Amino acid sequence: MPPIESLRERFAGRLLTDPAETAAHLTDWRGKWTGRAIAVAQPDDTDGVAAIMRWCHAHRVAVVPQGGNTGLSGGATPDGSGNSLVLSLARMRRVRAIDVPNNTITAEAGVSLHGVQTAARDAGRLFPLSLAAEGSCTIGGNLATNAGGVQVLRYGNSRDLCLGLEVVTVDGRVWHGLKGLRKDNTGYDLRDLFIGSEGTLGVITAATLKLFPLPNSKMVAFAAVASAQAAVALLELAQANFADGLTAFELMSDTCIALVEKHVDAARFPLAERAAWYALIELSSTADEAETARLMERMLGLAIERELIVDAAVSTNIGQFRALWALREDISEAQGAEGKTIKHDISLPITLIPDFVEQTSREILERFALARMVVFGHLGDGNLHFNVSPPAGAGPDAAPAFVAQEAALNKFVHDAVSRLGGSISAEHGLGVLRRDEASRYRDPTAQALMQAIKQALDPLGLMNPGKVIVPPAR
Ligand code: FAD
Repeated sequence: MPPIESLRERFAGRLLTDPAETAAHLTDWRGKWTGRAIAVAQPDDTDGVAAIMRWCHAHRVAVVPQGGNTGLSGGATPDGSGNSLVLSLARMRRVRAIDVPNNTITAEAGVSLHGVQTAARDAGRLFPLSLAAEGSCTIGGNLATNAGGVQVLRYGNSRDLCLGLEVVTVDGRVWHGLKGLRKDNTGYDLRDLFIGSEGTLGVITAATLKLFPLPNSKMVAFAAVASAQAAVALLELAQANFADGLTAFELMSDTCIALVEKHVDAARFPLAERAAWYALIELSSTADEAETARLMERMLGLAIERELIVDAAVSTNIGQFRALWALREDISEAQGAEGKTIKHDISLPITLIPDFVEQTSREILERFALARMVVFGHLGDGNLHFNVSPPAGAGPDAAPAFVAQEAALNKFVHDAVSRLGGSISAEHGLGVLRRDEASRYRDPTAQALMQAIKQALDPLGLMNPGKVIVPPAR
């Protein structure tokens, strides 16, 4: 056991070893993975992170970086060996600078996503990354997982929103890369290497992020569509009419909405009649509300004329805006409340999505005895949460048989995605959940290059071991 007391002297009160204090850091948000650790360290600044990394390096202790611990792939949970240290960035919560004319904000890794959005808004700017866990997840975790969310269609994912990083390496050196530059062709892009690496290459301690003008008006429509094919045609129509104003285009099946109505008290179905699918369309504009409403009405009128939608509800105030969005954002929670779920976070070229959904859903229902499709997601980004629940009314007794199908179901879905050139992890990362599957589908040259990068940056394999990439054979 390495001499943890030497760390305790420097980090009094910020080095947790009491099981009552460490427990929340040793299991993930959904309670799917649980591990053990020597301690949980919570430094308040970059020097503190560097000191911990030097100590871990000297004593060959593995490090598991952790932000808000909301990740969905088990990347922030230590393994069961009890030999690693969890490095929580949660106390690094300073917004270091906002440069309004340059449209940038520099925030430490532990600032919550909501905190970054709020600081930007207070300065009269928009930080557009947005996802249901935004009150708890951190900007460091968002960048480490290259999180997507609901505005990717217009603003891109976390990678697209980041201009510079500050990173502590495995041996405790600091890379000062906090540049607010939109053009910088001075060699290999280290920033893009760390973004999406899920804590396996280094520790992100701060980031400089892009800001945008705040929209003057926002409106959302919840539209009933007969099929996924009609939803793709509706997306095309919305893009043609709104251009950059189209900030989100989400798709969800009627099963998803029924689950939300069942498990979320506040949920109200907003239309007179039900359909197989619904699209949630958000329009943001620097124009005033009347102009935005006019644009939305015109687009929906065209959609009805072309028989793409059968009915739609539009928000006319912020309460309605939030209520319509909640129907989409509460799906994960409702699916969890319904029971066990088997999740797939896939992406495909948008054109292929309707056939994929129709055919793969049908085949799953034919081949797997216990299955109900729960399909929703960011259609505008080609990203679907292609999830499976036990059939309605299956009851808790069916749970073991349902879960026993998981590996076969995953393979079935991911083989189909891979055949069509898609991705088996669109926005949730690999962590431990998809590490081996991703290795199986990955191009062999890409696999060797990734292993070489890991070896170069972390030769002792101390950064978040067991996550993202199968280690190179030694
Ligand atoms: P953690 O969970 O703590 O860590 C995630 C990974 O990043 C781990 O591998 C960890 O080791 C690493 N890491 C964390 N911080 C650092 C750091 N500072 N330096 C290096 N590595 C680090 N994701 C989407 O993309 N889109 C969504 O729409 C979406 N919706 C969600 C909805 C809910 C309700 C929940 C619970 C999650 C959702 N997620 C979504 C998952 C999303 O990936 C996480 O919420 C978020 O990006 C992770 O941030 P975190 O701070 O919680 O990171």
